[in-house]
Amino acid sequence: RSETPEEISVSLNPSTVIKTTHVTVTRTQEIEESRMLLPVVSEEQRIMEVINHNPCVVLCGQTGSGKTTQVPQFLYEAGYGSLGTDNPGMIGITQPRRVAAVSMASRLKTEMGDAADRVGYQIRFDSACQPETAIKFMTDGVLLRELATDFLLTRYSVVIVDEAHERSINTDILIGILSRVLKVRAEMSQEEGSTTRPLKLIIMSATLRVSDFVENKTLFGVSPPVIKIDARQFPVTTHFAKRTSLKYVDDVYKKVCKIHNKLPPGGILVFLTGQGEIRQLCSKLKKSFCKTSSSEYTPKVRLSGREVTLEAEDVDFGNDIQDEENSEAEEFEESSSDEMLGCTSQPLHLLPLYSLLPTSEQLKVFQAPPTDHRLCVVATNVAETSITIPGIRYVVDSGKVKEKSYNRDTGVQSYDVKWISRASAEQRSGRAGRTGPGHCYRLYSSAVYERDFNEFTMAEINRAPIEGTVLQMKNMNIDQVVKFPFPTPPESRHLREAEELLSCLGALDSDGRITELGQSMAAFPLSPRFAKMLTIGGQHGCLPYVISIVAGLSVGSPFLEEFSLAEPLDVEDEKQVLTNEQLCKKEQRKRRRKEFFVAQQQFMKLDPMSDVLKLLSVICAFIYSQDKQEFCEKFFLRPKAMEEIDKLRKQLTEIVLSNSPVALGRNGTYEKKPSLPKSVQIKAIRQIVAAGFSDQAAVRADLVPSESIKEFAKGFKKGIIYVVVARSGQLETCLENCLAIVHSSSVINCKTTRQAVPDYIIYQELVRSSGGSDRVYIKPLTPISAQHLTILAKSTPLITYSKP
Ligand code: ADP
Ligand code: MG
Repeated sequence: RSETPEEISVSLNPSTVIKTTHVTVTRTQEIEESRMLLPVVSEEQRIMEVINHNPCVVLCGQTGSGKTTQVPQFLYEAGYGSLGTDNPGMIGITQPRRVAAVSMASRLKTEMGDAADRVGYQIRFDSACQPETAIKFMTDGVLLRELATDFLLTRYSVVIVDEAHERSINTDILIGILSRVLKVRAEMSQEEGSTTRPLKLIIMSATLRVSDFVENKTLFGVSPPVIKIDARQFPVTTHFAKRTSLKYVDDVYKKVCKIHNKLPPGGILVFLTGQGEIRQLCSKLKKSFCKTSSSEYTPKVRLSGREVTLEAEDVDFGNDIQDEENSEAEEFEESSSDEMLGCTSQPLHLLPLYSLLPTSEQLKVFQAPPTDHRLCVVATNVAETSITIPGIRYVVDSGKVKEKSYNRDTGVQSYDVKWISRASAEQRSGRAGRTGPGHCYRLYSSAVYERDFNEFTMAEINRAPIEGTVLQMKNMNIDQVVKFPFPTPPESRHLREAEELLSCLGALDSDGRITELGQSMAAFPLSPRFAKMLTIGGQHGCLPYVISIVAGLSVGSPFLEEFSLAEPLDVEDEKQVLTNEQLCKKEQRKRRRKEFFVAQQQFMKLDPMSDVLKLLSVICAFIYSQDKQEFCEKFFLRPKAMEEIDKLRKQLTEIVLSNSPVALGRNGTYEKKPSLPKSVQIKAIRQIVAAGFSDQAAVRADLVPSESIKEFAKGFKKGIIYVVVARSGQLETCLENCLAIVHSSSVINCKTTRQAVPDYIIYQELVRSSGGSDRVYIKPLTPISAQHLTILAKSTPLITYSKP
């Protein structure tokens, strides 16, 4: 078990030099010549000097300057990878993405000629390493897992953390841990008779924004030296769109068509946000430009002129950065948008590139296109810095990226399409200037760029839900998260709260160490509450239901809230004279409300007192419905929410299946379409929901032996009052001086008879009323028995019921 040392101000011994023996690599002449052109290679001597004399070095250089492919070779030739008895160990290089780890290893094998077999890689579920592997490419996740079993990384002499500018959570945690490993290895190497050698760390970044690693003294004690490589880059002309497109996939299509039809040879690189869009664009382009199997071209495609309505401020007033010398591009911009597209006879060599694509498909972007073909790569931001695709001259940038985001109020994580940062936009344009002067076409106006784009992307750790990160860290045996040397630390209050919640969920023991349950939870890339529900759901044969519920709770209520179940149906008409029109409207509304009530009753059959089970039954019914639109109309549902829930449900199913094959149903077959749950399962589902939200329980107020609460509950007619239970299991009678009222959307409402109102409930959300009053509403609700509440309040994740 690793302890994070408290004392962190001790600086490393900068004079620690590892004794190495030079190794010669014989490369082909072609490779040698292409290496000579790389900016990093001309700086080899300076780079190695600094590395030899410092435990940690930061290396900045533009994408394509040769950092990833050359620095490991410098180290290898300098002897850092020699594996004899005089063994300094391996050179490890981490990448944020699988595709980069595999493709870079393969490139190095090609470059290193006679030493090709010394290069290997390891990614999750796939390893190509041998005893003689001296240079090992891997994803950052792989090295983090290695650290959990071998904190000193005894097999390595150097670790290179690549693409550190991306600031993924893994990179940040890795750098934090490695700063400690460096210190321990340096100290051990100083001990008398020690055979341990110091470890070297090289942090590589495609941008100059490295101050979080360099100036943060808690990391390395002293600021590590920063080497900046000046990359030779051909000029790139940036063209902003006059207007910002709403349908950017369509506009990307038009732009690619125009480039291919009108502009001189050169590869095209398109940035979109994900697999769906990439496939959509590729299939359109394929129809227009790619050879069919019978070597015929498909008929020319005509794009109709399309209008986009725009806000006044969206119109751009000529701030575009344009290079006057490039008249060809200007002319091109002027051309009419309503023209024949796909009229060139030159075929397009079209390649998609996204991380879910099989690795062998991804690697195709490095092969030269067939003669006479123009290369067109349609990629996610994988192509932004990790990978340099040869021959790109034109970049088409949608300006968008799919980013994991998190809502702190609801705890919901989602993938949203967002604007990239200005730094990312610069990186993307830069891709066009590797082989010669190029052009970058941005599908957004310079006004939007100035106004809506952030300067940099925020480090993932500062925007991700901290509970999940803490769980992952505990799973790596980092017990003291509050003292952990993050490059940009989250607030320690948030870290402590996260630990508290995790112990409450049973993921941590009383010493704050991960439990067996916590380890299973950590396998899900979800908020720990939902991860716990899925873990337990898997153990009790309720997975399809739990997945549906998690999807539903993540997206939010799909029920139209225009009418509420809480309002009594037949309110006495106030005695007043109404016009015919008013009467008509009133009648109409009354009728709609009745219909609504009847429709909602359909979904309360599973459990008339549980909002969560109502949600489950609507999700299941939606799966089986033929006409989704009609279904939503008939049952007063928001179609968009229902679609999102269904999409998330499918994604979660894939994640669960790939994560834990044990989660496969009882007889090994997983039911993708859930059938109606049996009554034992309903009971289990209630308890599973409660297990995920065991810190969010409430007791009916009139059951609580406090006169004042009883009085208050009696006096309050419209709604049922609950008292919130604190994590400790104590009653929290004063939730900032107010009691919690059942939200009007709940199936538990003022029409519910006293006997039927559950004594104890679990809620997912506390909503404060907006009107400035101190009322707090709870929703959605799940009843729970007193016995279970007692168990859960003690934070014992114990569920008792007989398996179906
Ligand atoms: P950096 O890490 O600084 O972004 P790289 O080391 O990845 O740069 O790339 C250096 C050069 O090597 C690039 O300019 C590119 O042309 C070339 N290169 C990289 N990978 C391949 C490959 N698989 N095939 C051909 N050339 C490659
Ligand atoms: Mg690189």
